[in-house]
Amino acid sequence: MTKIIVVGGGAGGLELATKLGRKLGRKGKAEVTLVDRNRTHLWKPLLHEVATGAMDPGIDGLSYRSHAHNHGFGFQMGSLTYIDRDARTITLAPMLDDSGRPMLSERTLQYDILVLAIGSVSNDFGTQGVRDHCIFLDSPQQAERFHDELMNRFLQYGESEAVDDKVNIAIVGAGATGVELSAELYNAVEHLSAYGFKKLSRDCLRLTLVEAGPRILPALPERISGMAHKELRELGVDVRTNTMVVEATAEGLKTRDDELIPATLMVWAAGIKAPNFLKEIAGLETNRINQLTVKPTLQTSRDDSIFAIGDCAHCMQENGKPVPPRAQSAHQMASLVYDNILARLNNKPLKSYVYKDHGSLVSLSRYSTVGSLMGNLMRGSMMVEGRIARTVYVSLYRMHQVALHGYTRTGLMMLVGRINRFLRPRLKLH
Ligand SMILES: Cc1cc2nc3c(=O)[nH]c(=O)nc-3n(C[C@H](O)[C@H](O)[C@H](O)COP(=O)(O)OP(=O)(O)OC[C@H]3O[C@@H](n4cnc5c(N)ncnc54)[C@H](O)[C@@H]3O)c2cc1C
Repeated sequence: MTKIIVVGGGAGGLELATKLGRKLGRKGKAEVTLVDRNRTHLWKPLLHEVATGAMDPGIDGLSYRSHAHNHGFGFQMGSLTYIDRDARTITLAPMLDDSGRPMLSERTLQYDILVLAIGSVSNDFGTQGVRDHCIFLDSPQQAERFHDELMNRFLQYGESEAVDDKVNIAIVGAGATGVELSAELYNAVEHLSAYGFKKLSRDCLRLTLVEAGPRILPALPERISGMAHKELRELGVDVRTNTMVVEATAEGLKTRDDELIPATLMVWAAGIKAPNFLKEIAGLETNRINQLTVKPTLQTSRDDSIFAIGDCAHCMQENGKPVPPRAQSAHQMASLVYDNILARLNNKPLKSYVYKDHGSLVSLSRYSTVGSLMGNLMRGSMMVEGRIARTVYVSLYRMHQVALHGYTRTGLMMLVGRINRFLRPRLKLH
């Protein structure tokens, strides 16, 4: 039986494994296996909400094992480290338990078709001190670490006697992650003051958002970035554009102009790269940021049996620009690779991927949502804000849930979410 392995159960990989499991795995037409280094899946665009406590990964995380059982595919927990293209095997690193004791030794899995969907990590561009002093928002574990530190800083602030004391937080990178996290932090402070955190109010936060380029949200139209900038300033964020960070220290961020931006909690969200181990893995072609070069069919340029999708894929569009690393790209690529795997199994020609930009939306927590939508009915993009923008923003996540669970279960999950809003605190407090 054909063995299909999907490595990475994120925005793209989990949707693909689910569809393949339903179509082929359940009917015994292929053996479909998903590999992920984590036990549970959490949609990455929600990580800033985990960081502030607006989302609890313990409740909202999806167990890979149970999802695999329900949808006709197998699950192997482990980290991909090596691919042997001649033997058509992948190797998963040995696993340790929480106290560092060996749990599982190195494993080797056989494939006929391999799909790499392992996403991306933050790119610190080799900036000194970043690894030691900044937190990245690449995984639920890192987002939870930020949340723990945030709670500690707020507790400390409540007990401090100093009158001019503030909680100093700095975020590097004013793309969607940095901007959304900034607004979400003000939302958190407002809610936490109701839960007995002493002295906490908007004014206790000194939040600096640092961007090397001339404006925030560089990937979005200028008008939208202007609106978001104004909204953040009104919340109290100190937005620094044209500011290059050259070092992170225990005291804060040093800029190229020799200024120190004081901060006790720092987040680095200034660009992405594919994980370092992908660089020339198994002789596959990669670009400057380790992404795997793919053909229009999303097969890697040097091996037709290996596909790559999502953030770890370097796919050029006809306009000469690469497909942007976004959830909607990962979703679309998963759909195309699903079609192409079926075509390959049936000896039919494979389709080419064409990126469809449906627009971009940025959530400024409950304060506002801004963005642009692209549609067939309109030429170019249409600005949206407020309730319509919020609804479309949320519907992106709903589409991901529908792809995984179907409409009925997604509806039930929405209902449970509403009930939880009555039963649980507005923010995760532990
Ligand atoms: C805070 C934040 C907000 C964002 N907001 C938006 C947004 O509003 N809209 C938007 O379009 N995009 C947004 N993005 C970008 C979006 O999340 C990514 O583009 C998208 O998740 C990429 O999907 P993917 O399937 O390629 O990778 P991911 O969703 O990152 O999934 C990768 C998976 O691979 C697993 N993995 C990694 N390495 C290994 C390994 N060695 N072995 C096994 N498994 C491995 C990981 O555990 C993970 O499950 C945001 C990103 C962040 C961080």
